[in-house]
Amino acid sequence: MLLKDKTAFITGSASGIGKEIATLFAKEGAKVVIADLNKAAADATAAELVASGAQAIGVAVDVTQEDQVNQAVQATVDRFGAVDILISNAGVQIVHPVEEFEFADWKKMLAIHLDGAFLTTKACLKHMYAAGRGGSVIYMGSVHSKEASMLKAPYVTAKHGLVGLAKVVAKEGAKHQVRANVICPGFVRTPLVDKQIPEQAKTLGITEEEVIKNVMLKETVDGEFTTTQDVAQVALMFAAFPTNALTGQSLVVSHGWFMQ
Ligand code: NAD
Repeated sequence: MLLKDKTAFITGSASGIGKEIATLFAKEGAKVVIADLNKAAADATAAELVASGAQAIGVAVDVTQEDQVNQAVQATVDRFGAVDILISNAGVQIVHPVEEFEFADWKKMLAIHLDGAFLTTKACLKHMYAAGRGGSVIYMGSVHSKEASMLKAPYVTAKHGLVGLAKVVAKEGAKHQVRANVICPGFVRTPLVDKQIPEQAKTLGITEEEVIKNVMLKETVDGEFTTTQDVAQVALMFAAFPTNALTGQSLVVSHGWFMQ
């Protein structure tokens, strides 16, 4: 039980990568908060975890709204007494060439990925610092925190930005034993990616199979998707790591698509 007595606030955890992290953290003894825009799915995920013997709650939150974030983090502390781990994971994808990107869509992407990371960090740090028991802040970056792809201007911009935020939080949090790191996954088959495959096929004028083989997995060492389980294992390592030796880092888990 690597996370016994720890409380994890995980955004976007009613689906995909976040849900897998919540499931693994619950198995490792954490109390988990399923914080998601989709309240029904958050409650259903929390109920699944409770049925398996874990302590979990679902909370409705739009990570772009400061009041909602503060209320959700306060509800976490009210229920479980602390917040020890933040996984800032909620995210969406919108793809267009730059010259066709609607400004409103650009702003929406930066709001979810960057404002969401900032607001949840700010809300959780206050509690972590006050409790004096350290903490771990983990951002869901991407290979797109390191590399660019066509059609993804705001996503690539935001995911690069998270690396900067993590470095600042690592420096500011050190004296409180609060660490900050970024996980950078390659393509993972979740609803977020399944939606992109037909969109990219249409925009690029190729088949869906070609999008998978020649766009998404082209640069991997073995043509394989990264799995939600792969990403959850990396999250567990960051969350459970006991000292400031591992902070301010970004770790790529991508079947070798990007090599440091
Ligand atoms: P997903 O679509 O399966 O899950 C995303 C979750 O975020 C959903 O439950 C959704 O309701 C929630 N969400 C969306 N907007 C929100 C908001 N404003 N407030 C609160 N919750 C919100 O997606 P996923 O693939 O699991 O992606 C999770 C994270 O992983 C994202 O940050 C994504 O950029 C990142 N990522 C995904 C991949 C991939 O290939 N799937 C690769 C690298 C990084």
